[in-house]
Amino acid sequence: MDFDVLIIGGGAAGISCALVLGSGLEKDFAKNKKAGIILHQRTSHLQSALLNNALGIDSGTKGIDILKSGALQLKNLYPGLQQIEKEKVKEVAEINDGFRVVTNKSEYTSKSIVIAVGYTSPFRIKGLEEYLIPHEKTKLSKNRVQLKNRDQLVKPGMYVAGTLAGWRSQFAIASGSGAAVATDILTAWNNGEHTKVHDKLS
Ligand SMILES: Cc1cc2nc3c(=O)[nH]c(=O)nc-3n(C[C@H](O)[C@H](O)[C@H](O)COP(=O)(O)OP(=O)(O)OC[C@H]3O[C@@H](n4cnc5c(N)ncnc54)[C@H](O)[C@@H]3O)c2cc1C
Repeated sequence: MDFDVLIIGGGAAGISCALVLGSGLEKDFAKNKKAGIILHQRTSHLQSALLNNALGIDSGTKGIDILKSGALQLKNLYPGLQQIEKEKVKEVAEINDGFRVVTNKSEYTSKSIVIAVGYTSPFRIKGLEEYLIPHEKTKLSKNRVQLKNRDQLVKPGMYVAGTLAGWRSQFAIASGSGAAVATDILTAWNNGEHTKVHDKLS
């Protein structure tokens, strides 16, 4: 397998998931784990967002700047988490013990995947049709979608985060959803013992 976990989508949920997972790679139980993110950002809802109501974000911050600074933060702090840029996922297929992720340029195998591509319809990634349902927390007229999930797990090894998990579209909710999935994955790697990653003032 190319990866133990591969995150698909580099918006609020995907980058937040990657930051927490990246920080967790330093834990003993995660030392040999391979993690990556397909950091496509062109269709992120953050591209046109202006944020005034998100904790910790200066009012007037442009979403497009968060996309750039988030990717840079990830690269600088957690270079162990591989960033795959400018590739769009076309298909996800189940294989023995994991998934094959096919992009417009390449393909990757991973034991687990996190799908964080937003709730826009039509949904264009093949192979996930059986999990696709109308979004349960948005006006029907908006035609948004989500993947069926229980606590952000679609099926063993397949996680969903952000608006595509059925959450309402707010930056803090999407970010928290991505971070939550990361701690679920770290906990699974830690043989089910609950875990989180905290830095402290010395
Ligand atoms: C105009 C506007 C204003 C907003 N203002 C606010 C606000 O004031 N306060 C607030 O809290 N929230 C605001 N939001 C909402 C916020 O931007 C979203 O809730 C948040 O971006 C959702 O995060 P997400 O990760 O679910 O999706 P996104 O951030 O949309 O990320 C999805 C990612 O997946 C990638 N992707 C899509 N398809 C593929 C594919 N096939 N392969 C690989 N990658 C793919 C996209 O390029 C993108 O990077 C606003 C949104 C908009 C549109």
